[in-house]
Amino acid sequence: MTTPNTFSASAASLTQFDPQALPVSAAQAIVLEWVTPLAQSERVPLRDALARVLAADVISPIDVPAHDNSAMDGYAFDGAALSNPANTAVLTLTVAGKAFAGHPFPGEVAPGHCVRIMTGAPMPAGCDTVVPQERVSMHADDDSASETVTFTTDGLAPGANRRRQGEDLARDGVALRTGRMLRASDIGLMASLGLVDVKVKRRLRVAYFSTGDELRSPGQPLDAGCIYDSNRYTLGAMLRRLEVEPIDLGRVRDDPDALAATLLQAAESADVVLTSGGVSVGEADFTRTQLQTLGDVSFWGLAMRPGRPLAFGRIWSGGRPGVGRAALLFGLPGNPVATMVSFYQIVRPALIAMSGATPQPVPLIPARCDAPIRKRAGRTEFQRGVAGRDAHGQWRVTPTGSQSSGALSTMSEANCFIVLAHETADLDAGDTVDVMLFDGLV
Ligand code: AMP
Ligand code: MG
Repeated sequence: MTTPNTFSASAASLTQFDPQALPVSAAQAIVLEWVTPLAQSERVPLRDALARVLAADVISPIDVPAHDNSAMDGYAFDGAALSNPANTAVLTLTVAGKAFAGHPFPGEVAPGHCVRIMTGAPMPAGCDTVVPQERVSMHADDDSASETVTFTTDGLAPGANRRRQGEDLARDGVALRTGRMLRASDIGLMASLGLVDVKVKRRLRVAYFSTGDELRSPGQPLDAGCIYDSNRYTLGAMLRRLEVEPIDLGRVRDDPDALAATLLQAAESADVVLTSGGVSVGEADFTRTQLQTLGDVSFWGLAMRPGRPLAFGRIWSGGRPGVGRAALLFGLPGNPVATMVSFYQIVRPALIAMSGATPQPVPLIPARCDAPIRKRAGRTEFQRGVAGRDAHGQWRVTPTGSQSSGALSTMSEANCFIVLAHETADLDAGDTVDVMLFDGLV
């Protein structure tokens, strides 16, 4: 398989910061500099397009709505009648027929007449205004079997309660722009244009594996001194949210050869490789040495907590920089909360950019913190908290008890990160902090 090297920045930019204290914002910027969006695209049916990234502008082939139509159930008439001084207060019109959505009124509506119209029905020829039905009184005329309606005209202007043809989307206009990560409304919008499929970027292939002799998979007996491998499950789940193609390469022992073999396999098959564990400076941290051999990878001490150690760069399927196929590499720390924080803050924006979309900053909400917080200036912290609005509508947040980077339960208990900026120091109860909510609406 041949894939061009997709990295634009020089390796030098990986090491231009003091590795002891690379600020989070600097790390995020370097990572995005190394990302080149995927070039390949494919067509997928609308039903499968949610969260995929548009590979071309979507041009509207039709006007939406296709015709002027009524925004209300009521009576359609010619708004010119409103400017006739004889009709200023009250208007009486003869009902000429009915118009339903999907069943237009066939004729032309003569002056002094109106048409009973339902929401969404095309405006009959000769009509541009709708009076809502609750404003009219009806009279059946005994002699002629015709019906009339009477209503006061105040507040009614010509064109009232009418939706214009092309008001939502004009024919030949750009309905959605390339690079858009498709949401439910976009899927519906494309359906409203009559489209059956859409050109999107191919899925990003993301390989991931855990390292550590102490790891056992769920379902296996837990030997002395061992723990279950949770990071691979967390990573798999976080990747699923991004509509990438996850490639689970399993669990790898702290053994240089096993690690090298898995890394080469990952570089061969994936666009991005995520590892967990083995990137700090312990004696069993072989990931570090293997990454140095097989790729151009830099090791960062991020000024971030949790998640200080992180490896970033690229890994080559040929086993040496410049040989074979390159994949972007993130070596995430092994502590389970650190793995998640590094994923969300560093990896996620990169995956979005590489998928062809523009990562948007996640909104921060100011909230009063109910407890004092210990924080050292000089690093960004992502503490776990439970946030909500109190009876006065004021956002408040309570930190979860433990802030240990090993305590995954705090991530389950929390509904937000309390984001403590690089320069922030200790905080008192009642101080305002920024919270980043976990859950979004769409
Ligand atoms: P390491 O970065 O390999 O030194 O690991 C740091 C800590 O995270 C150690 O306590 C590991 O046992 C733990 N850890 C590493 N990988 C995993 C994993 N996949 N699942 C759960 N805990 C892990
Ligand atoms: Mg380890």
